[in-house]
Amino acid sequence: MKKKHLFGAAFLIAAAALAVAAALLLRSRFARPPRPNIVLISIDTLRADRLGCYGGPAGISPNIDAFCNESVQFLRASSQAPSTTGSHMSLFTGLLPAVHRVTNWVLREDLAKRFDLAPLATGIPTLAEYLRENGYRTVGLHGGGHVAPFFGFDRGFDLYSDAIIDWGEFYSSRAQQEGLLSRLRAAGTSKRPYFLFLHHYLCHEPYLAAPAWVRQRFLPDPEPGLPLDWDGVMPGRGLFDKKALPAAAADNPKPYTRYYETFWKKIDDGNPRHRRHVRALYDSGVHYADMVLGRIVELLKREGMYDQALIVVLSDHGEEFWEHGGIVHRNLFKETLHVPLLVRFPGGEFGGRRVKSPVGQFDLMPTILEYLRIKPRLRLQARSLLPLVRAEKEPPRRVISFSDGADTLRFNEGPFVYSDQAVETRWGERLYNFYFDPLEKRNIIAGSPALQARMRALAAGIMREQLRLRARIHAGPAKGSSISPELKKQLEALGYL
Ligand SMILES: [Zn+2]
Repeated sequence: MKKKHLFGAAFLIAAAALAVAAALLLRSRFARPPRPNIVLISIDTLRADRLGCYGGPAGISPNIDAFCNESVQFLRASSQAPSTTGSHMSLFTGLLPAVHRVTNWVLREDLAKRFDLAPLATGIPTLAEYLRENGYRTVGLHGGGHVAPFFGFDRGFDLYSDAIIDWGEFYSSRAQQEGLLSRLRAAGTSKRPYFLFLHHYLCHEPYLAAPAWVRQRFLPDPEPGLPLDWDGVMPGRGLFDKKALPAAAADNPKPYTRYYETFWKKIDDGNPRHRRHVRALYDSGVHYADMVLGRIVELLKREGMYDQALIVVLSDHGEEFWEHGGIVHRNLFKETLHVPLLVRFPGGEFGGRRVKSPVGQFDLMPTILEYLRIKPRLRLQARSLLPLVRAEKEPPRRVISFSDGADTLRFNEGPFVYSDQAVETRWGERLYNFYFDPLEKRNIIAGSPALQARMRALAAGIMREQLRLRARIHAGPAKGSSISPELKKQLEALGYL
């Protein structure tokens, strides 16, 4: 009898052990994915090389540099377009501008028609949509203009607004800061994390966002007669003063261009003192953006929302200051495409890692999806950065960027960077050796016919692939589209078809 009991107990213990083992196995294979709060901060028009952590001058970016120390830093990240709409849309869709077709030129009727551009097709899912479908509450507090809802940027957001935060005031205004925090407290719960997208134009032309006391640090001796503040460009108005703009501006960035035109009319390109003035104004904007980032970090820490969040700091494109003769951000050069990309994982995991391989800024989207174990419905052109974060070996990535017409491109191949900007600008074909000529001063295309032929063939192959993908995605039931006969003719003339 006793023996029988012992046998029964042993059987029960064995069964319990088996059940525990099975449960552990199931848990390891099907464990609930991590669901941290996600904060994505896009500092518009921020050149990587003005930041200390990217080799820039000391003292401009102490807060971003400190954040960089806790993050994975991508040293060679390029944006997929040199302008706001195309770049952000790549970031949110994981597709290249030639495939999603949403660039700044969507607003210009003639160019939109000529280059077959349009607001985001309904069949293309966005990062915010994926996150919302997976339980996130999604909040976008942005600077308007070229990330306005008009283009499709509001898709997937529970709240998408440029009216809640006035970024020009945010640094010193308690009410502004509380405006952000109250939304986060309402958005995030232990059961439902939040995705917060923050975006502002504090570094953007006409570079007047910094308050006078910040500007004076960078421009103690300003050039007489040149603009220093909004009064010097549009008396009584400011880029962030929404009340000064016509109602239509909330969803249409056209009125913003008036500020830029007035600013640049006062700048003499050939005058080195004018150039110095403009660069110093830009640096004051970068420093102010850094102060704002410091404030955001401070607020998140105070609310206990910092350490376990996944926080990203990046920019959508850089800015030209006559390095190749041009200004602002239209062309496909290093100064317009090399952007900061810093990812702080929850708990500071992987913090301090530096990734030297070339990557696309839009690779962030599949990175977030893979981290959360969300499988995208559409095959993305962007690739997860997690293998590089984990220091796994992989072949060099091809990083591609497109101009606003999405018809001219730039890409890397071995040590070379090739661009063909013949259609829209005077730059034409360019070939640089990244290692010997990182500032892209010596165009070696003319002396390298064999390389030129190889690059042209690669460019043609890349374009064909974009057109195939574009036709497949846009031919879906959501929205029919095709390449216009005119664009087809242009691409044929360029050897792309
Ligand atoms: Zn931008």
